[in-house]
Amino acid sequence: MQRRDFIKGLFVLGACPACAQADFAAEAAHWSYEGQSGPDHWGAMAPDNAACSAGSQQSPLDLTGAVKAELAPLTLDWKAGGKIVNNGHTIQVTVPEGSTLSRGGNRYDLLQYHFHAPSEHHVDGRSFPMEMHFVPRRKETGTLGVLGVFLTPGAANAGFSRLAAAFPKTSGGEAAVDDVDPNGLLPKELTYWSYEGSLTTPPCSEIVDWMVLRQPIEVDEKDIRAFTTLYPMNARPVLAANRRFILSSF
Ligand SMILES: [Zn+2]
Repeated sequence: MQRRDFIKGLFVLGACPACAQADFAAEAAHWSYEGQSGPDHWGAMAPDNAACSAGSQQSPLDLTGAVKAELAPLTLDWKAGGKIVNNGHTIQVTVPEGSTLSRGGNRYDLLQYHFHAPSEHHVDGRSFPMEMHFVPRRKETGTLGVLGVFLTPGAANAGFSRLAAAFPKTSGGEAAVDDVDPNGLLPKELTYWSYEGSLTTPPCSEIVDWMVLRQPIEVDEKDIRAFTTLYPMNARPVLAANRRFILSSF
């Protein structure tokens, strides 16, 4: 930050013509959820982010008016463990190789999962206190199949409590979470909404087959506070569905 202010100072003084580009790149790396680096400005912050403002298949959405469809059931085969990281935008758990999500004939490999507060997707206009995103990638195409799970306050979830106790307090901090099983972070029923959308953070690439579970999981309210103390608001606002259909398996 100090270096950036220094460069800005030079630029204002006209002493460093080449710094305009450096300053631009530095700003692109510093996207956030409010003000001049917030969601309304992501698209203009770097050429790679164009989809954030120009895209027509952006996420998240308000999940409403869904069309019931014969969606293939989800089969999850997830292994315990991983590394928890505070990456400056969220808390993320990078998982070891070997966890898969299958849907119909498509198989995805789970890369990581992370959290947003409040939820990014809404249901009939309402948000939840938090949303968890499991991010699996299809080997053949490189496309992602993000699985969203809503979190609501209620009974403690043992896995989420262990994660909350391990949340690294500062950006860049990390720790091992070998005893946390992501299967324990799922509701009983895997009925879901499905639609084609994007990453919800820059560069907002439109490469995501979204699956959002209808049933939230309950977690201890104090574990939600452990997250919101670090990240009180890291949710992109909902966007227009445009011509997209939202399908539901229920
Ligand atoms: Zn996310």
